Amino acid sequence: RAKQDGRGRARFFKREMDQQAQERRQLELELRRALHATPEVFEVHYQPVIAVETRAPTGLEALLRWRHPERGFIPPAQFIPLAEEIGLIVALGELALRRACADAAGWAPGLRVAVNLSPIQFRDPRLVEMVAEALADSGLPAGRLELEITEGVLLHQTEATIATLHRLKDLGARIAMDDFGTGYSSLSYLRSFPFDKIKIDRAFVRDLGTSPDDAAIVSAVTGLCERLGMASTAEGVETEEQFRRLEAERCTEVQGYLFSRPVPSSEVPRVLSTLSSAARPGKAGPLRAG
Ligand code: C2E
Ligand code: MG
Ligand code: MG
Ligand code: MG
Repeated sequence: RAKQDGRGRARFFKREMDQQAQERRQLELELRRALHATPEVFEVHYQPVIAVETRAPTGLEALLRWRHPERGFIPPAQFIPLAEEIGLIVALGELALRRACADAAGWAPGLRVAVNLSPIQFRDPRLVEMVAEALADSGLPAGRLELEITEGVLLHQTEATIATLHRLKDLGARIAMDDFGTGYSSLSYLRSFPFDKIKIDRAFVRDLGTSPDDAAIVSAVTGLCERLGMASTAEGVETEEQFRRLEAERCTEVQGYLFSRPVPSSEVPRVLSTLSSAARPGKAGPLRAG
C-alpha cells in the first residue's frame, strides 16, 4: 500500500515536471519567435526616480515588459532569466537600450534614463560599441544615460569586466550598482570601480519602520555613499513613513509606488507633469529649470 502510494506520488511528480519542462520549452519558443518576428510586443515601461530633497523627478528607469497575445503582460522576472539562458538577452538588451535612449531623447533635457544590463551582456565583446551606437542613433547625450549593473557582473570579476565598465564610463554614461545588498555583496566591489550610484534593494526598505536592523543597514549604506561621493537611491518606497526615514538617513533619491508605478512611454509626460507640480515649491527640479 505504502509502496503503491510512493509509486503514485513519483508518477505525479514526474508528470508535474514534464509539464513544467513543456511549458518552459513553449515559452522559449515564443520568446524566440517574438523577438524575431514581432519585437514590438516587448515594451519598455518607465518608473520615475525622485530627488529626496525636492521631490521632483530626476529621471526614469526603463523596465521591460512582454505583451503576450494570450497571456497579457509577462513580467521580466519570468522571461529575462530565460532569455539569459538561451542566449537571447544580448538582442533583447539591445532592443531595450535603443528604445530607452530614443524615448529619453524626447524628454526634458534634465532627465536621465536608467537601463538595466544583464551580466551576460558583459560577455559580449560588442557591448560598448552597441551602447555608443544607441546613443549616437538616438541623439541622447551620454550624460543622460545611466547603466544599472548587479553584483552578478562583478562576481567573476575579471580585468575585462572592469575595463568594459571604464569604457562605458568613458563614453560619458553613469554606472549604478543595482539591488545592493541582495547578492554576494562585497564592499571590495566598491573599490574595484568608481560607481556613480548605489541602489538600495527594496528588501531593506520594506520594513524600515519596524526593523531596527534594516534601518541600520540603510543608514550604513547611505552614509557610505555620502562619504564615497556616490548618490543613493532607495527602491520600493511605498509609504510616506518610509520616505521620511530615508530622508532622515540622507538618501538622495527614491523610486516606488508612493510616487509612481512603471508606466508605458505614452504616459510619461502626464506622470512627469503630475510629479513636478507636486514637488516642493521654490526648489526647481530639472523640468522647471529646463
Ligand atoms: P530592478 O532593476 O531592481 O527594478 C525594480 C523593480 O521593482 C521593478 O520590477 C519595479 O517595477 C519594482 N518596483 C518599483 N517600485 C516598487 C514598489 O514600490 N513596490 C514594489 N513591490 N515593487 C516596485 P520589474 O519591472 O518587474 O523588474 C524586475 C527586474 O527585472 C528588474 O529589477 C531588473 O532586474 C529586471 N529587468 C527589467 N527590465 C530589464 C531589462 O531591460 N534588462 C535587464 N537585463 N533586466 C531587466
Ligand atoms: Mg534596476
Ligand atoms: Mg533594483
Ligand atoms: Mg531590486
